[in-house]
Amino acid sequence: MPIPPFTASHDGLRREIREFIRSEVRPHADEWERDRWFPDELFGWFAQRGYLGLKYPRSHGGAGGDYLDDAVLAEELAGCASGGVAAGIGAHIGIATPPIWKFGSDQQKRDYLEPAIRGERIAALAITEPDAGSDVASIRTFAREVDGGFLVNGAKLYITNGVRADFLVTAVKTSGEGGHHGLSFLIIERGQGVRSTKLDKLGWHASDTAEIAFEDAEVPAENLLGERDRGFYLIMANFQWERLLMALGSVAGMQAGFELTLELVGSRSVGQTTRHALAEVATTIEVGRALTYHALRLFHAGIDAVAEVTMAKLATQRAACDTAARCLEIVGLDPGTDTHLLERHLRDARLGPIGGGTDEIMKEILGKTLGL
Ligand SMILES: Cc1cc2nc3c(=O)[nH]c(=O)nc-3n(C[C@H](O)[C@H](O)[C@H](O)COP(=O)(O)OP(=O)(O)OC[C@H]3O[C@@H](n4cnc5c(N)ncnc54)[C@H](O)[C@@H]3O)c2cc1C
Repeated sequence: MPIPPFTASHDGLRREIREFIRSEVRPHADEWERDRWFPDELFGWFAQRGYLGLKYPRSHGGAGGDYLDDAVLAEELAGCASGGVAAGIGAHIGIATPPIWKFGSDQQKRDYLEPAIRGERIAALAITEPDAGSDVASIRTFAREVDGGFLVNGAKLYITNGVRADFLVTAVKTSGEGGHHGLSFLIIERGQGVRSTKLDKLGWHASDTAEIAFEDAEVPAENLLGERDRGFYLIMANFQWERLLMALGSVAGMQAGFELTLELVGSRSVGQTTRHALAEVATTIEVGRALTYHALRLFHAGIDAVAEVTMAKLATQRAACDTAARCLEIVGLDPGTDTHLLERHLRDARLGPIGGGTDEIMKEILGKTLGL
């Protein structure tokens, strides 16, 4: 029986995605991790099956589903054995295209959302800067109004898909006002005045995380996304969903690592210490899943779930690092066992307490919801 909010129809979708990931994606994971890159064509493979537009309306080329379909995809992506692949595909679907769906003009949806759903154009969301991560109000990339549009100068950091993206949904300042005021979003096409540099990282090896420099990048006026100077609301609009996606991905990632651990220790007789360690890992995963599904049910029902979503993210990200380390310790005790996938789990999990708002920021938000 599917666990609510999922239904039998989600189970059907889950089986279909799982088979696709198992047979078409996972066999390439080791090679793509080694290459520090997965081919752009992968977006086309997902698009052919409708997976890049599950929650988007049919009128824009989507599958006409809802957030729960995307939730199933986020969980199943964890089975691809590469956090980098899940991150690249996930950023395109989960954070870069939603603002165009919610705030874009019809023309912007035709020019950017629809080709993104077809896998023809790759998207990235560019908010973070060298001096503006948790504190988005410190963004300094500036878009100066010129005849017919904007001239953009500044730098972005740690942008997923930042090298391969055809367009960047970019946070810029459009006025000299301080704080959250004067923030806007522009859809910036790759091209003259946009330079990307790929960064080396601890984990997510197959994904291209980039530093991006804008040097007099020309952006036409029609690429202003949403209302000018009100970009802060656009940033806030997708945070709950991004954090839920991260919680779902972490729970599924923990489950995958745990099942692999059971498989690897399965043939030996385990002592009480190992048995108890595995029992604790299983409990941690179940706690994370229960909290995440609770937040998902509230979110799906349209109920204000800021506290629950925040707790779900906080409870699952560091837990994924800890369970990956424990699983590795358990399996690594057996000389000669192949631990490379568990090592990858551990490396890939480290982003969780940082991306989409750090653990400290989650605690700040929760403090506020508690009136502190
Ligand atoms: C692999 C990877 C992929 C990413 N992909 C993207 C992407 O696609 N698009 C994008 O825009 N960004 C992306 N990011 C950036 C990510 O969102 C930021 O790294 C994150 O928001 C934290 O910002 P920061 O790195 O500047 O750290 P900082 O904000 O400088 O934080 C440093 C430390 O200080 C703590 N801290 C900061 N403020 C407070 C506070 N008020 N109270 C208590 N503690 C605080 C933090 O918790 C952290 O421990 C990515 C990052 C990584 C590593």
